[in-house]
Amino acid sequence: MKRIGVLTSGGDSPGMNAAVRAVVRKAIYHNIEVYGIYQGYSGLISGQIKKLELGSVGDIIHRGGTMLYTARCEEFKTEAGQKKGIEQLRKFGIEGLVVIGGDGSYRGAKKLTEHGFPCVGVPGTIDNDIPGTDFTIGFDTALNTVIDAIDKIRDTATSHERTYVIEVMGRHAGDIALWSGLAGGAETILIPEAEHDMEDVVARLKRGHERGKKHSIIIVAEGIGSGVEFGQKIQEATNLETRVSVLGYIQRGGSPTAFDRVLASRLGARAVELLLEGKGGRAVGIQNNALVDHDILEILDQAHTVDQTMYTLSKELSI
Ligand code: ADP
Repeated sequence: MKRIGVLTSGGDSPGMNAAVRAVVRKAIYHNIEVYGIYQGYSGLISGQIKKLELGSVGDIIHRGGTMLYTARCEEFKTEAGQKKGIEQLRKFGIEGLVVIGGDGSYRGAKKLTEHGFPCVGVPGTIDNDIPGTDFTIGFDTALNTVIDAIDKIRDTATSHERTYVIEVMGRHAGDIALWSGLAGGAETILIPEAEHDMEDVVARLKRGHERGKKHSIIIVAEGIGSGVEFGQKIQEATNLETRVSVLGYIQRGGSPTAFDRVLASRLGARAVELLLEGKGGRAVGIQNNALVDHDILEILDQAHTVDQTMYTLSKELSI
């Protein structure tokens, strides 16, 4: 293999730049040329492809977002779109592709692999919802952003003796809510992977209030429904003054944490090694702090799960 490509796709996450840098530097270290594909699969179809040099990825390791930009592309879900993408790759003499993104992006990489074009997936998403890896790139940074917000809200919650509902990202995965709720000392955490009983939530709030708690923090993953509506229901049921904060897109941005930069560097470099070993159709990950790779098809067949023991612990610690 003499020339590979790299793209970022789907929702961006902090640390994607560090992953792109690792791919480029690792490839050049092995005398392989690297081409950057801009704007995900959309740029792949339209041929927005440029050679990257060592200096192209200088000064990006600490930046959020992605220097290659990202996009969502409906056309790439069609076989015609995928064939156009492969034509572009062949036109530029690219023989293997690193796809940095979430599960949707992995589906695109899977299709390219099925058409005979070797791809390796690198998990870049704040949601931590990709099977086959303990952590995805960007999750730790997003968590720290949420913790910062919870700590600030806690200050004002205490001053005013209010209940605060904080809605965090996670349409299908409760990892951000669970980890940030545990780290932020939330009284209640609601995630899509676990049933919640409104009466139990209300009883816990009332119990806390009766024993003199000055405030309560409830973390709600967006997948369980609107935080605003949930806050209204809580206020009606408890008669406690309740406010809602929807954190939204701030969770996607910011300078990546050291953890995410190291993770991105390790995973990006490993993806290049796999292509050089002639292994396409793989997804890299980290499990028990060791680099692993799995068949990308198998990854997509698995359901993401949250750590139920952590969920139980969060309940035990917030009695
Ligand atoms: P993420 O990668 O963050 O999960 P999306 O789900 O939006 O984000 O997927 C990103 C892009 O991956 C889509 O816009 C599309 O171009 C491509 N993609 C998603 N699903 C498929 C699929 N089934 N087949 C081919 N390409 C897909």
